[in-house]
Amino acid sequence: MTGVTILGATGSIGRSTLDVIARHPERFDVIALTANTNVEGLYQQCLQWQPRMAVMADADCAERLQQRLAAAVNVEVLAGREGLEQVAIHAASDYVMAAIVGAAGLLPTLAAVKAGKRVLLANKEALVMSGRLFMDAVKENQAELLPIDSEHNAIFQCLPPDFSGNLQQNGVRRIVLTASGGPFRCRPVAELGTVTPAEACAHPNWEMGRKISVDSATMMNKGLELIEACWLFNTSTEHIEVVIHPQSLVHSLVEYADGSVLAQLGNPDMRTPIAYALAWPARMTSGVSGLALPAVGRLDFEQVDPNRFPCLDLARQAMNAGGTATAILNAANEVAVQHFLENHLKFTDIPVLVERTLEAVQSSEADSLAGVLAADAAARDYAKQRVGEYSHG
Ligand code: NAD
Ligand code: MG
Repeated sequence: MTGVTILGATGSIGRSTLDVIARHPERFDVIALTANTNVEGLYQQCLQWQPRMAVMADADCAERLQQRLAAAVNVEVLAGREGLEQVAIHAASDYVMAAIVGAAGLLPTLAAVKAGKRVLLANKEALVMSGRLFMDAVKENQAELLPIDSEHNAIFQCLPPDFSGNLQQNGVRRIVLTASGGPFRCRPVAELGTVTPAEACAHPNWEMGRKISVDSATMMNKGLELIEACWLFNTSTEHIEVVIHPQSLVHSLVEYADGSVLAQLGNPDMRTPIAYALAWPARMTSGVSGLALPAVGRLDFEQVDPNRFPCLDLARQAMNAGGTATAILNAANEVAVQHFLENHLKFTDIPVLVERTLEAVQSSEADSLAGVLAADAAARDYAKQRVGEYSHG
């Protein structure tokens, strides 16, 4: 049996992971499940899965979960950052699904990497913040890093199985990241200032948590993914093209020197990349149905309009600037998205706040975790101070 720990078990990716695991009870043993403040959600998952450990983000939630579980099942309940790191490095956790959203996922994900685990990486923000440190830690500790993000999982599938870490050596000319364009692809740009959080979260193809849904609507998600791809595949932004593909069936492509372009296709359902990473290098069922090509009929592709989606360029610039600029970008975006979701910031002010923060907060080398966390904190402080100036709540 392979022991699996799921960081962020109550979220969209966490629930999809449990759905896949439920199809293979003879293969996987759930070791630990974690959640932020959703006591009821984690309680129900603990009843069903009876993990050894469960972690809530704070002591109060942990206490409430403990009380509810006491009468039912024997689960050790832990709390906070220490609890997350403890389960991430636990000897029984062979695989760690990193599915916490945002910067909160960085430390436990990095702990799993340093413990040499197979890390199934959904938490792209961790890599955006600390790419160099993260990838160095993967190498030093012989961790297995498998991308869950559908685009990166697709690229991983289209690269040679013995990919050396050097695209050129492997005959790759470029990577093409596909983007759905989100819910506002066709909305007149002049109307974007008044779109609501509910509209932004109504993604046409994917069901996801609220933060990544807003990121998809601004296309900051593709910006974060561009940075993620640079680190995962050891390349730079000029070797990665982003194209809009509204159907979300071609999950990304790799173009080789001879002109061959390999793509990975499938229905937009995260259980495919999750099952791939759980079974790699073999394959197993995921519950996702096959692609009915005649019903699909056509696949469309279009260029990204930088005026509609300024966040993509901001992310590209931050990656090109290097160092802690991507941590600053990520932190400012998290603050902006949270305020947008709380109706305190207009949708179109998200890129404005991110850009101002990037201009104002000094970046530096991202050569220590302390430096990355300091950049994250400085950017959050700055963005929170400035957010009031754009406030319309
Ligand atoms: P979600 O909001 O549905 O779930 C987030 C999970 O993290 C929940 O279990 C929540 O309890 C936990 N969490 C949130 N804040 C926390 C904190 N401060 N401390 C501890 N735990 C915390 O999000 P999601 O859609 O499942 O996305 C998770 C990650 O996967 C994100 O980084 C996202 O970018 C990435 N991702 C998601 C999808 C998708 O289809 N949902 C696709 C690609 C990548
Ligand atoms: Mg993605």
